[in-house]
Amino acid sequence: MKEDRGLSQSISWIHLFCLLFSVVCPLFFNGCAFLIRRPSYSVKAPAGAESPFRGVYHIHSEFSSDSKASLRQVLKTGEKSKLDFVLLTDHNNMRAKEAYELMKWPAEGGRPKQPLLITGIEISAPDGHMTAFGISEPPPKGMNSQDLIDWIHQKGGYLVLAHPICQRRPWTNWEIQGFDGLEVYNFAHTFYPENKLTLTLKAMLFTPKMFLKHYQKINPSWRQKWDELLMTEKVSAFAANDAHLHWKWLGIAPESYILQFQSVNHYVFSEVFEERALLEALGEGRSFFAFETRGEARDFQFRAEAGGKEFSMGEEVPGSRGEPATVRFLVSVPQDGELRLLHRGEIIAQAEGRALTHSVEKPGAYRVEVYKKDKPWIISNPIYVE
Ligand SMILES: [Zn+2]
Ligand SMILES: [Zn+2]
Repeated sequence: MKEDRGLSQSISWIHLFCLLFSVVCPLFFNGCAFLIRRPSYSVKAPAGAESPFRGVYHIHSEFSSDSKASLRQVLKTGEKSKLDFVLLTDHNNMRAKEAYELMKWPAEGGRPKQPLLITGIEISAPDGHMTAFGISEPPPKGMNSQDLIDWIHQKGGYLVLAHPICQRRPWTNWEIQGFDGLEVYNFAHTFYPENKLTLTLKAMLFTPKMFLKHYQKINPSWRQKWDELLMTEKVSAFAANDAHLHWKWLGIAPESYILQFQSVNHYVFSEVFEERALLEALGEGRSFFAFETRGEARDFQFRAEAGGKEFSMGEEVPGSRGEPATVRFLVSVPQDGELRLLHRGEIIAQAEGRALTHSVEKPGAYRVEVYKKDKPWIISNPIYVE
């Protein structure tokens, strides 16, 4: 009997040791996506003054009631992620703008040029959340959604419908007109609906890259809404990190801010690296977004040739004498992928490898999606044919 008890005790010690080993090892050597503070993949450093510029859109700082990230932390995280710009969208205020201007910098070196911190805003409108940028002050309170859009345009700004088809706070009024963009992806809203225990386990046991890849999926209903809108108007696609640091105690935050910054990136084509030019390019869709856990996307190209001229994302190819022009599309990617050219939500041409060319004669919005092993890598903004 004594021997049996001894044996069962040693078995439970072995069990306990195995359990600890299997939990602690992944945490230290492999997993714990949400505790990691290093970049989970690396990309080239910012190219200085060379387009396209890499950045994140829809970031919350301590000027949001549900985030504790200081502006210094925002900038530090942007720098670690090798970003050219960070577009802040705090809830219903733009106080970060003044705070950034008042920030103290070392006498030597001064304010770093990159990442450039740009202050936008996320507005809680009566019909859902919208983000705005390119304005210098928040809109007056109490306006309806259409008046908000008109006010923002009057002030020279751009407006994007945020997380339009999510469970938490969907957009509910599709009668409004004139908005510039639509979030086709929102990292935070891909895991908000998930059971908290499952989410915690995934955050603890997955590697950061695995965790990111797991949530880097385009929701078909978001994409369908974008394609539906593109049939009648110009709407630029946005991918939101929607990064928050919800909790921070004694300077320690359980969520990884850098993981959220690395969830998705925008590349913006602008002739100069300057705030207004970058925002115009973003608002007008001269950009694409990418999930760079699947490969660096900087050298992606999507162009159109017609009548001896060249056109890029966000631009319109004019028709000739009331008829649509014959347009030749050229797509190229820096690594092998599955390239798809889409029109009215349908794939009209596809290729595997690094290039795709295709000619069309029909009007409308043409856009590109690139996949790797059937998982989304690059989503372009459209080129419009009159
Ligand atoms: Zn929101
Ligand atoms: Zn948000």
